[in-house]
Amino acid sequence: MSSDVVFCWSTGPSAGDTTLRRRIEPWEFKDSFDPHQLRKETRLLSEVWWGKSSRPWRESRQNATHHVEMNFIEKFTSERHLRPHVCCSITWFLSWSPCWECAKAIREFVSQHPKVRLVIYVARLYWHLDEQNRQGLRALVAGGVHVQIMSDSDYGYCWRNFVNYPPGQEAAWPRFLPVWTALYALELSCILLSLPPCLRISRRRQNQLTFFQVILKNCHYRAIPPLVLSAAGMMHPSVAWCWAE
Ligand SMILES: [Zn+2]
Repeated sequence: MSSDVVFCWSTGPSAGDTTLRRRIEPWEFKDSFDPHQLRKETRLLSEVWWGKSSRPWRESRQNATHHVEMNFIEKFTSERHLRPHVCCSITWFLSWSPCWECAKAIREFVSQHPKVRLVIYVARLYWHLDEQNRQGLRALVAGGVHVQIMSDSDYGYCWRNFVNYPPGQEAAWPRFLPVWTALYALELSCILLSLPPCLRISRRRQNQLTFFQVILKNCHYRAIPPLVLSAAGMMHPSVAWCWAE
């Protein structure tokens, strides 16, 4: 049950920052959180604020033999000695959304620790056509966990606080096309509103192409907020995107 864990305690790299080596490298960040790269591994960047403390506890971990979310919860509950009366605010930046098993474990964790507030930002939706995974995300949100797709400003926040960016490159986080975020946000809306899936992702290994296709039905148009639809450019019922590496 090992995992690749890196601890970082600072708020930004500087010449005197002794934790520089504990941050992840820019290429690791880009590879893990690129929304149109369907990488197998999941990376978790986490930030924990205790009570009114002014310094968070930060770390990065990646899947090994155990899902990162489960690994975090196990380590956190065994090592961090949660005090029942102290509020604790946890933010996760996950490269993939939690699977249904992790969603179940997360829900149990927050229900057992009412002083813990958990917010999860995800770069991509994990096997989002699987009904168990969809149900798992709905149950998480119903249990009080905030789940959201990572925006450009979230990428910037992670870059400044978790990445060993080169000197003078504080604002040089990877910019991905906003359409990827908008497509995943559209599908997350479908999941949370208990609508049928509208986003299909397929990959052709032969020519390294990844296809994103959106097909909307009347039920989607009726229930999804117009802002979410327009952000994804969904003026027409069927749109497809193709990405070549
Ligand atoms: Zn999982």
